[in-house]
Amino acid sequence: MLPKRADTVFINGKFITMEDASPLAQAVAVSGGRFLCVGTKEEAMKYAVEGTEIVDLAGKTVIPGLIESHAHPCYYGDQCATINLSGEATTSMENILKKVAAAVAKTPKGAWLFGWGWDEAKFKEGANPITAEILDTVSPDNPVFIKRTCGHVGSVNTLAMKLCGITADAVPPVGGKIFKDEKGVPTGVISGAVQNWIPFPKPTDEQIMELVATDIQNEIFRKGITTTTEMAAEARFVKIYQELQKQGRLKMRIRFYTFARSNVNCPATLAETVKVGLMSGFGNDTLRFAGMKYLLDGSTGGKTAAFSVPYVGEPDNFGTLYNDQDELNADMLLTAQSGMQASLHAIGDVAIEQALQGVEYCLAHGVDPSPLRFRFEHVESPTVEQIERMKKYGILVGTSAGFIYALGDSHYNVMGPERVQWAFPNKEYVERGMVFACNNDCPVCDINPMLGIYSMVCRKTQGGKSFGTAQSIDRMQALKAYTVNAAKMLFDEDIVGSMKAGKYADMVVLNEDYLTVPDEALGKITALATYLAGEAVYKA
Ligand SMILES: [Zn+2]
Repeated sequence: MLPKRADTVFINGKFITMEDASPLAQAVAVSGGRFLCVGTKEEAMKYAVEGTEIVDLAGKTVIPGLIESHAHPCYYGDQCATINLSGEATTSMENILKKVAAAVAKTPKGAWLFGWGWDEAKFKEGANPITAEILDTVSPDNPVFIKRTCGHVGSVNTLAMKLCGITADAVPPVGGKIFKDEKGVPTGVISGAVQNWIPFPKPTDEQIMELVATDIQNEIFRKGITTTTEMAAEARFVKIYQELQKQGRLKMRIRFYTFARSNVNCPATLAETVKVGLMSGFGNDTLRFAGMKYLLDGSTGGKTAAFSVPYVGEPDNFGTLYNDQDELNADMLLTAQSGMQASLHAIGDVAIEQALQGVEYCLAHGVDPSPLRFRFEHVESPTVEQIERMKKYGILVGTSAGFIYALGDSHYNVMGPERVQWAFPNKEYVERGMVFACNNDCPVCDINPMLGIYSMVCRKTQGGKSFGTAQSIDRMQALKAYTVNAAKMLFDEDIVGSMKAGKYADMVVLNEDYLTVPDEALGKITALATYLAGEAVYKA
């Protein structure tokens, strides 16, 4: 019998396989997009025949294609029609106001202006909110709405408040809030569903589709990611991905979740999905339906995540729960009985408790949790007792430790220096042998997994504050959270997440040796090349 022939053999690499039985390899042979062999140069070269391409990696380190298990690629598109207030712009309030003023100068009087991305924790003037009074100084005649980086909180000027009915007497919808000063006058800061009162622009589906096929997908590959998720897939997003796949332009692997219950942008989809009979796993290796998403609380930086301890300086503010427990239980049971995975956004311990009670309700009704793989998302402050219950039920934790670097400065301010020591307690999961994946919740934070890894290992904010090292984990445990563990979370462990014969040849060639760079440099590692099913989809 003829030996199987390789399309490509990669030699002289330092392959970190993420396979316990053989953690390091020198070479891999690839055929039909999958690994034929992961081993020594001699072993891999056995598959080289005439026409096989030989790629010499000159000693570079290679890791499996990274898996960002919680992202919103299509929401990048939502930002294209707004003033970008993230990154450099958000280092001072002065910069934010300058950017808004520049946009005002180019806009006819009376027309709306929208921005996104500010984070008061990064203002060099101090962590003060942007009020209507402040916005009025640069935009008295144009209504303005600028969203905070988290998307859960935003600021409007006086004209916008007038146009949208944001008054002292207005009754906010469930989960929404109009912030007021000590005299009861709205300050211009709003959160949650009150933002739905603002006519925030939606780019067309065609615009989003083009962005996903080009800039967004390229950025994802540039960061070494080959598999990711659409965690809040609106119907139009699901159509966009299907259309792109039909056109042969969708290369990255996408797993999508739709909202079980209605939410800011999305109608409820649970009943309809059950009627159609869709179960987790429907689709193909590129595009697949993963399950139902639930939103249980808000964001920490926006002071809407639900904790049992109040926010610093606001003794009455414990955050917001978005669901009634009985209704949540019923929907979670229907989700489980219909063969769908539930992914529950739960940041504070009060929200985590609600998620756990939902799981316990399912168990009490005869649901076997192991094939369903319940996943909890963000999970900033679980109690030890809650962690024990998560372990008992086999819950997969989607730790948003990436927030430590990108949003940690604001979390530090609103939680205080003691509580952040326990934020994203990943060491607890390692010690208990639990499966946890890490995420950056893009576009909330930069999608770069290396910043998530840096966060898990060093636990330092962009501004240099420390979350303590008691919950630090080592770099190999951190890499698992973006490879094998993330694959498990998405039911993909048989096809991606590690380098093993039979799995897809998804891999990333790095500019540094992942095993030996100093901890502090982990966040600066970049991809030299990203391969998806053996094909180069990015080259530096
Ligand atoms: Zn998210």
